[in-house]
Amino acid sequence: MKNKAVYMQGTNNMVFKDVAVPELSPKDVLIKIDTVGICGSDVHYYQHGKIGDFVVNGDFILGHECAGEVVQIGTEVENLVVGDRVCLEPGKTCGKCEFCKEGKYNLCPDVEFFATPPYHGVLQNYVKHPEDMCFKLPDNVSNMEGALVEPLAVGLHAASIGDVKLGDTVVIFGTGCIGLVTLLSCKARGASNIIVVDVLENRLKMAEKLGATSVINAKETDVIKEIESLTDGKGANVVIDTAGAEITVKQTVDVVKRGGIIVLVGMTPKDEVSFNFMKLMGKEGEVRTIFRYRNLYPVAINAIASGSINVKQIVSHEYDFEHTKEAFDFVVNNASEVVKAVIKID
Ligand SMILES: [Zn+2]
Ligand SMILES: [Zn+2]
Repeated sequence: MKNKAVYMQGTNNMVFKDVAVPELSPKDVLIKIDTVGICGSDVHYYQHGKIGDFVVNGDFILGHECAGEVVQIGTEVENLVVGDRVCLEPGKTCGKCEFCKEGKYNLCPDVEFFATPPYHGVLQNYVKHPEDMCFKLPDNVSNMEGALVEPLAVGLHAASIGDVKLGDTVVIFGTGCIGLVTLLSCKARGASNIIVVDVLENRLKMAEKLGATSVINAKETDVIKEIESLTDGKGANVVIDTAGAEITVKQTVDVVKRGGIIVLVGMTPKDEVSFNFMKLMGKEGEVRTIFRYRNLYPVAINAIASGSINVKQIVSHEYDFEHTKEAFDFVVNNASEVVKAVIKID
């Protein structure tokens, strides 16, 4: 067994290195990685070497959206066997704090998350991971779909925190990967009208293909007026911002229905943005936020397996392992064209 990893070295640069195959603890399994999705956060580290307080120090392995095959199991592993295909939930939590104990483990302050410094990611041949964070893929769910479970879980969490229900009208700002998986999630939960807003025509076309009932190009159309007319002046039950732009965050309150819910998902470049709380209070509206996701890997896998969610449609570009740097450079230079790029390791 030989393990090769691709490291980012400085910014906009990558090198391959031979690394040791990880030694398993009793409850770990060893996974031969097959597919890795490139996330916006990976690209951000690649370009800037940091995200907020998380700073890359030295050579660093990116990648946290992945699936592969179990090739070895620890002595105390009970539910997985060699040959199982699995997707890996990236965050290892402490299991002991109050957040872990109440099931909100995504809020655990002691999480070790793949490709969040100082913890290396999965752009390598072999990775070890605790058995309980590896989720078996049924035969009709591919490794590629397995790798997409991670971003899909974000969309499912956004729709769940927004309490999106059968018959709802939902507005989604942003058509990046997370905007689109949020659209798929809202549709799967039974939303009747899904209005998607962005400024990129090709992305809006994609949103239509994935089930948006209306799309609005904010460059050409007055977003607030258009949503007013699409909702008989009432606004949307749920408004989800995945764009993270100052203007879209501000507009959420204008387009939410009285008594409705706003979910903030996209991170704004500035920490503080202006928001009309008086208007929100006049509507008895609620603002909610999400941080990653929790308890949603099994849900996502079931939704893909049953056909409720067709997530593989979001993959726009595929590269092999040797061309990982080319893949990252392409994503950096063609951001509007790429919805989701994936690397085939195996
Ligand atoms: Zn991701
Ligand atoms: Zn914890």
